[in-house]
Amino acid sequence: MLILQKIVTFPSKTIINKIAVLIVYLLFIIGVLASDPDPVMDFCIAKSADNSLTCKNSSTATVEDFTYSGIKFPGNFKQTGFSSMAVNPNVFPGLNTLGVSFVRADFGVGGVNVPHFHPRATEVAFAQEGKIYSGFVDTSNKVFAKVLEKGEVMVLRVLVHFQMNVGDGPATILGSFDSQNPGLMRIPNAVFGSDIKEELLD
Ligand code: MN
Repeated sequence: MLILQKIVTFPSKTIINKIAVLIVYLLFIIGVLASDPDPVMDFCIAKSADNSLTCKNSSTATVEDFTYSGIKFPGNFKQTGFSSMAVNPNVFPGLNTLGVSFVRADFGVGGVNVPHFHPRATEVAFAQEGKIYSGFVDTSNKVFAKVLEKGEVMVLRVLVHFQMNVGDGPATILGSFDSQNPGLMRIPNAVFGSDIKEELLD
């Protein structure tokens, strides 16, 4: 309020300057908030699966809105022997505005989760089954990797990371994210599967 009062009492020329400073200040605050904003309600079950943040009438909520059974089994496997099923508000509307999401990842023998990163989240990966060589690369290109055994956990910052099933049976990773919309950029796809001009990749 004090800032606003000051703005109102300043002559018109400086009002514009002050507003500009205020806008820059607000943008700075927004920039500092790297994680999802805190919810302002108990919950906001998404009305539709379009991530629009439109809440369903809370008085009609039931326990079914807060449970999800779509990852009991692995999804479809790619040629890389890898399957991932994202659990976000698009499939689980009860997660909407809560700032978290989840993934189930399954690996056939030798299956690979190619180098990728999530631009809006840190991931915590739990090895539910199997032996998974898992790691990430920091900004000095140093690799931090080891074979995760069943029951072990690894934290993967917003950096390029990867996983590979090095056991002789199937493997499963459960990953949690500190964003309801962590995003996913697979490096091979982003570099070689996009419209980046070929001469940039020589
Ligand atoms: Mn990941």
